[in-house]
Amino acid sequence: MTTVVAIDGVVEPGETARISVLDRGFLYGDSVYEVVRTYRGRPFLLAEHLARLERSASLLGIPLPLAREAQGEEIERVLAAAQNAESYLRVIITRGNGPIGLDPALASSPTRVVIVTELKSLPAELYERGAAICLIPAGRSTASTIPQGAKSGNYLVNIMALGAARRRGAHEAVMLDAAGLITEGASSNVFVVQGGALHTPPLHAGILEGITRRKVIELARGAGIEVHERALAPADLTGADEVFLTSTLREILPVTVIDGAEVAGGRPGPVALKLRERYRALTLA
Ligand code: PMP
Repeated sequence: MTTVVAIDGVVEPGETARISVLDRGFLYGDSVYEVVRTYRGRPFLLAEHLARLERSASLLGIPLPLAREAQGEEIERVLAAAQNAESYLRVIITRGNGPIGLDPALASSPTRVVIVTELKSLPAELYERGAAICLIPAGRSTASTIPQGAKSGNYLVNIMALGAARRRGAHEAVMLDAAGLITEGASSNVFVVQGGALHTPPLHAGILEGITRRKVIELARGAGIEVHERALAPADLTGADEVFLTSTLREILPVTVIDGAEVAGGRPGPVALKLRERYRALTLA
């Protein structure tokens, strides 16, 4: 496996790449990031990811060191150096180094990191059987912990929720807000199919606007499937015809078990399969 990293533009092997312990990304998760994957070696929807990185950075008041085009070129350099068949790619911008202290004004020069490593695909069996999820009360919504919609490096709520789900043998945690409503997965968005239409929590539920979520909404509408962004309760998932997760790395992953009980007849459904086919066609276009 080849891992190649660029720190502030300097490309080096993953094994030797180091950043300072005084970096606020390390100290506080005071950072923003994106995860992108390649198809046939090319980063998929890179422009959308870089646009979201810009939005996240602007919400946190972190000045981006490179313009979008230059950041894209840097990513291409790291991908070319790694030479993996398919790559997982992470871009991280932290607020940078400074004296220890919470005040964001203590750092003025952001740290820019690109990590490229070999893509590990999820097992085909997971898509054939469908995934198990757990509904985890996360109490505080992500909206109240970080500026809504920013993909920040502070993932502690998601990490704790995923840990709880994994201890129960599930693939993903789906987090509930303080009112018990569905928000999103630890690293995914959630959809249900009910009466032939798609339903997914609205952005004001405090979720990340997933790039896959947006594509799936577009694809569904293009295929004549209605899409409703509305509040979902756990009963909307357990009683749905289909449930699926979306994310860059999962694409469209059917869910067949929630909190240990079978849902959606225990089998991946036709809408998720059709959307995954259409999504895959986009990745090859
Ligand atoms: N929600 C959260 C909290 C995530 O971390 C992710 C993964 N980036 C997603 C949703 C899915 O987003 P995307 O489709 O852009 O990968």
